[in-house]
Formats: sequence, structure tokens, C-alpha cells
Amino acid sequence: SGSGSSDFISEFIKEDLQSGKYTYVHTRFPPEPNGWLHIGHCKAITVDFSMAQKFGGKCNLRFDDTNPEKENYSYVEAIKRDIKWLGFDWEDREYFASDYYEYLYDIAVKLIKKGKAYVDDLSEEEIREYRGTAVADKNNITHTPPGRNSPYRDRTAEENLDLFARMRAGEFADGTKTLRAKIDMTHPNLVMRDPVMYRIRRATHYRTGDSWCIYPMYDYQHPLSDAKEGITHSLCSLEFEIHRPLYEWFINEAEVFPSRQIEFARLNITHTVLSKRWLFRLVSENLVNGWDDPRMPTLAGLRRRGYTAEAIRDFMSRIGVAKTDSMVDIAFLEYCLREDLNKRSSRIMAVLKPLKLIIENWEAGETEELEAINNPEDESAGKRKIYFSRELWIERDDFQEIPPPKYFRLYPGNSVRLRYGYIVTCTGFDKDPATGEITAVRCTYDPETKGGNAPDNRKVKGTIHWLSAAHAVPIEVRVYDYLFSAERPMEVAPGGSFLDNLNPDSLEVITGAYGEPGLAAAAEGDRFQFERLGYFARDPETSGGIPVFNKTVGLRDTWAK
Ligand code: ATP
Ligand code: MG
Ligand code: MG
Repeated sequence: SGSGSSDFISEFIKEDLQSGKYTYVHTRFPPEPNGWLHIGHCKAITVDFSMAQKFGGKCNLRFDDTNPEKENYSYVEAIKRDIKWLGFDWEDREYFASDYYEYLYDIAVKLIKKGKAYVDDLSEEEIREYRGTAVADKNNITHTPPGRNSPYRDRTAEENLDLFARMRAGEFADGTKTLRAKIDMTHPNLVMRDPVMYRIRRATHYRTGDSWCIYPMYDYQHPLSDAKEGITHSLCSLEFEIHRPLYEWFINEAEVFPSRQIEFARLNITHTVLSKRWLFRLVSENLVNGWDDPRMPTLAGLRRRGYTAEAIRDFMSRIGVAKTDSMVDIAFLEYCLREDLNKRSSRIMAVLKPLKLIIENWEAGETEELEAINNPEDESAGKRKIYFSRELWIERDDFQEIPPPKYFRLYPGNSVRLRYGYIVTCTGFDKDPATGEITAVRCTYDPETKGGNAPDNRKVKGTIHWLSAAHAVPIEVRVYDYLFSAERPMEVAPGGSFLDNLNPDSLEVITGAYGEPGLAAAAEGDRFQFERLGYFARDPETSGGIPVFNKTVGLRDTWAK
């Protein structure tokens, strides 16, 4: 297992405990409630909670909710539900950065008094222009020419205190003033060039309503929220590495608890996107059916698709935690899923594209009960009854009028084993003369072969699944392909969009399918292995009264071990 590869974080933590920098370990998982959790978050959750656990510490759940426009309670609730489902517990340690607005304001005042922050009248665009950008020279080496100081940079602390108080009081229009940290406009790291700490925004926040019209920026809010909670190790993904000097600057200048930021690689998976802002676009533009669409990499989507929390946690521990970003093959996630589903899923028979099979030497109206094993991997799952009768459903694919080479299923004259039933021999078929469509296959059964064994040790190569037509229940089946055809959907040509990489055939709805009677009683989330077809989970929806099943994953492993 790759769980040892998060050791670089453990090593940092051990050093900090040994040096006496900290006497305890306290981490946090800090989602912004602007969308539902995706499988990338599972990596952060796993790292945050498992590091705390490893060192006998605690992990907070903190909502980093300081962007009034995009956040709401429904996201808070969805995030909490999904963390619990994954199997982690923050107990009573639930916090909101929006509860810290007064504290953050006070620290801003402290920084102004120290001469470390100032009110600027430059517009957002001017700030960007004064900051400057990185440029590549003719040898393609990047330089960051120094930026320029704002003409408002040298305001006195007194003037700044007055202006900042009036910003808060609502005297100025949105976007006309900001509070900026006074660091260094020539710093080689652009993040350090007097970053904005507060902006004026008249927007109603889902928790604080209209009580504030100034909102703190993430880079200011995050380190101070960590410090307020006594977070020792603030573990985050690699895109924050370049922000670390600023994290440390705020902690030092504010003279607060010295939380330490440590970065680890972001999880990327082929054929999908793992960032809330991109997933939000799929949802808001109706390119999927909501956050829990079974094609989505959200926890809710994966759960609805039939993923187990155990499989996801197993995947996390196998991929480990690295210091550099990498792309994980989605086939590996599916491999971990199959390993788990194989152990826990009841086997059952379903026919997705049905064709009638008529047993000519079986009396009409006669039913025989047979026994089937629920799970060969788990004896305690027991056995169930299945019914055999004159008219069965088989897969259309399991009959060929003219068999291709190496075809061992039904064709005129050939014999197959009906799983748990009898050996049958094909005697003919019915064809609609108008359409050429095969409407039924005819056969005879051998009464000596109950259970599928021939007393004369005859070789019968093919075994197919089937249902008694009189007993089968109708089901709808939804089969999914990757949401994006491209392996790396975010790699797009200039002027293109990641949406161009969407797979137009990612959903196939199969109506007219049938299953064993047991499927009618399946509860939402119940998981099955449909014999020979793959793993399926009962969707919360019904379609015109008919239960819907999602294909979770196929049986065959495409992961090259
Ligand atoms: P957004 O696109 O809105 O920034 P996000 O998907 O990055 O959304 P956040 O709420 O910003 O989600 O992230 C919460 C925490 O989860 C952060 O600590 C972040 O580092 C971590 N995280 C988010 N995505 C991943 C990922 N793909 N791999 C590892 N960690 C991640
Ligand atoms: Mg974010
Ligand atoms: Mg993010």
C-alpha cells in the first residue's frame, strides 16, 4: 500500500513536536460551501483527519465562507452529509470563517496601526496593472519586473484607520477602495506585492446577512482563521505553495498562533475534472442532472452510482500522498471499487436486451424452483430461489442465427448451460418476415442436467443467464461512460473550453429490461452484481413505477497491474 508516502507530512510534524514548536497536533478540513464535495476533497479529508489521528490530535471542519455571492446552507449540509458518509467525524468541532469577521477586522486594524496595511483607492484593474506580470524573455526565461507603488501607499495610519472604519460603515461604493497589506511591490513573488485584504461588496451573506459590506480575501482570512483555532498544521493542496510566504507574513505580523502551512499534491483523475468551480458549470449549465448525477466525480454522484466509502478510502490509501501533482488513471479507481464490490455484492440475474427463449419440451404453466448462490465470496449471504418455466428471457446477444468464430452461446444445433438450470439445445427460431427481426428462439432441455451438469460429461462451453418470463420484473437500467472523452479534459487548445471535451454518449438509458423478482424490493443504494453484466446499484428514482438501476462498473478489469 502507498499509505507510507504521506510520510513527508509526518516527518514535518514529528520535527515540530521534537523541536517543541508545538505540543499537540491539530488540523482542519476547510471547504468553501460553494458546491458539493468531489473525490479530490477525499484526499484532503483523508490527509487532514488521518494526520490528526496518527498523532493523537484533532481535526476541525471549518467552512471557509467569506465569498458572499457563491455560498449557501444547502452546500454546508451536503458537505457535512458527504464527510460523514465517507466515514470521518469532526465531532463538535464545526466552525465558520464568517464567525471570525469581527476578529479579522480587529487584526486588520492592528496591522494598520503597525503601518503594515493601507487603504487604496486604485481600482481592481489598476491594482493589477501596478502589480505587473511575469514575462518571458527571448530565451524563454521568466522575469517579474518590479511593480509600482500605489499613490495611496503612504497614507498615515490615522488616515487609514478612519478610511477603513468608513469602508465598514458603508460610506463608499463597491470597488472604490480596498485594504491592502503593505509588503513589497518589487517582490519576485507576485503574491507578495501588497495583496488585497478587504474589498467592498454589497452582497447578502448566507450567515451574516447584510451586517457587513466589506469582506476579507482568502489569503488574509485563511491563515488567521487557522491561528484562531490553534491549528498546528494547515495541510493544503499544491496550488497554495506560492501563497505560503504570505500565509507566514500574516501570521508573523498579526502576532498570532504560529500555524504552519504544508502542501501536498492535488488529486487529478483521468476523464474527469476535480474542482468545484468546473463542476459548478456542469450543473448550472444543465450538462449533467445535478450535483449527484452518477457521472459526476462528486461523493454524492459516486455514491448514487454505487461506489462504497470503503472503496474510495482504499483508493486513497493506495495512491498515497505525494509532493508533486500527478494524474491517476480512472481505471485504478475502478479496480479498487471492483475489489470491494466483489466481496459485498449479491449476485442476481437481469436481462438488459431481452429475447424470448421457448423450451419446447417443458409443459406450459409448469414452474420449477431452483436454488442460486447469493455470493460465492461470502457464504453467509446464503441462497435464494429462482424459477424455471417454459418461456424465459435471455440476452439478445446470446443468440446468433449464424455464429461468428469462437461463439459458444446459442445458435441452431448448439447447446448451452442455463446458469443454475439445465442444458438446452437450440432447435430453431422465429423471425418477423417483415423486419427480419428474431422474435423468439426455440430449444429443448435435457432433464438429466439439472443444476447444469451433464451425466455423460458432455462438453458444453457456454453458460448464459436467463429469467423466467412469467416471474421477471421490469427494470430500467442506466449505463454510463466517462463524462469526458479526453483523458485530460482541462487541456484545451487556445480559445477552446473543457466543455468541448464532454463525452456526448456518457449516458445510455435501457428500458424494457428485466430482473429477478428480488430486484423489485431493492432499496435505494442496494448493490448487486448482475451476473455476467457488471455491478449495479438501485437509484433513488423510479421511472413510471419501474425501479431504476445504475451501472456502477463492469466486471472486467481494465487496470494493468
Ligand atoms: P474551488 O474550485 O471552488 O476552489 P475546490 O474544489 O478547490 O473548489 P475548496 O473548497 O477550495 O475546493 O477546497 C477545500 C480543501 O480541499 C482545500 O484544502 C483544498 O486544498 C482541498 N482540495 C480541493 N480539491 C482537491 C484535490 N483535487 N486534491 C486534493 N485536495 C483538494
Ligand atoms: Mg476555493
Ligand atoms: Mg480550491
